[in-house]
Amino acid sequence: MDIHEYQAKELLSGFGLRVPKGALAYSPEQAAYRAREIGGERWVVKAQVHSGGRGKAGGVIVCDSENAVYEATDKLLGSRLVPSRTGKWGKIVYRVYVEEFIPIDRELYIGLVLDRKSERIMVVASAQGGVEIDEISTSRPDTLIRSIVEPAVGMQPFQVRELAFKLGIDATHLREYTDFILGAYRAFEELDATMVEINPLVETDAGKLYAIDSKMTFDDNALFRHPEIAELRDKSQEHPQQSRAADRGLSYVGFEGEIGCVVNGAGLGMATLDMIEIAGEQAANFLDIGGGASAERVAKAIRIVRLDENVKVLLVNVFAGINRCDWIAQGIVQALEQDPIDIPIVVRLAGNNVEQGRKILSLSGLPIIRANTLAEAVERSVRALNAKTDTAQK
Ligand code: GDP
Ligand code: MN
Repeated sequence: MDIHEYQAKELLSGFGLRVPKGALAYSPEQAAYRAREIGGERWVVKAQVHSGGRGKAGGVIVCDSENAVYEATDKLLGSRLVPSRTGKWGKIVYRVYVEEFIPIDRELYIGLVLDRKSERIMVVASAQGGVEIDEISTSRPDTLIRSIVEPAVGMQPFQVRELAFKLGIDATHLREYTDFILGAYRAFEELDATMVEINPLVETDAGKLYAIDSKMTFDDNALFRHPEIAELRDKSQEHPQQSRAADRGLSYVGFEGEIGCVVNGAGLGMATLDMIEIAGEQAANFLDIGGGASAERVAKAIRIVRLDENVKVLLVNVFAGINRCDWIAQGIVQALEQDPIDIPIVVRLAGNNVEQGRKILSLSGLPIIRANTLAEAVERSVRALNAKTDTAQK
């Protein structure tokens, strides 16, 4: 689960990180009022959307007057921001964060991520922080500094000193810098985060450190331990199908293609996606119904997958271990009878009670394209898709 910048800043300041003075606003009037409360002569109005790269997309506006704060907020609220990281639809701005302007001497990048290869928390840092970090991490990955934390002992001050040395941190800042990194590490660990990013972490002329921007992502499976974090979820920033699926205990992942997939198990889901790619197409999404799915659950899953307008063919691929093919088949029939489908549907069932499952499908009289293997199922889906596109073009 992602949270907003202002929420991440509030959490991180609780771990001792210095953040600019700021306040949230839902209207231009409120933003101007917030600017007056904050004081000073310059402010930054920042679109609160779940994405990085807002600066380049016009979502971070520096203002020299309360009136400019009003105007900037007016422009941002309700607009669709399309940073390069969000995909073509972007995100709608429903709130802005107004902050005191901080003069910057130097911008650093600090990220804490879960490194799957070493199965450890890894700190990634760069002396060239700011808006170009995506570019730097692809074009000059060698300039990124990495440090892996041993979980039994946690992040050690010597590791921070090593990072600081490589980043060229001035000795006078070392103490504060150490507190920053150790604070971010504690936040990561105590709150079950999967990512904490501070970009930029800045040094000011006055020699102070500030987290100018921060992002945090949390482990969904640990949210039950942190109700105060679970509360920060903002559904307006999520993919609509994804939130609907999550609310129903299903996991949904959206892509750009046209084949909608209902599968059981992430492994089978991945294999299905790979096979579709090999066949030269792309999935529109995949929805994992998990183990032990009832007919109702399958029916719900099919409805959610079809909500995506890009879906031109529906592929149901289930290998029943804990599941039972007859339940899955009943779910498919139930969904299609309640809500007849006008797109081709390909079903591949294997495993537990497969014979009963196939019988239910054939007795239903529904126009279902059946397949016995994954390869067959994908091939038939792609063929159905191409046939459809051909007719559409005629
Ligand atoms: P992002 O583009 O979504 O990562 O948004 P950021 O919050 O990082 O803002 C983008 C850029 O705007 C930063 O990298 C800074 O260079 C600049 N910026 C944001 N806030 C301030 C501020 O208070 N003072 C100064 N000088 N620059 C800022
Ligand atoms: Mn940033």
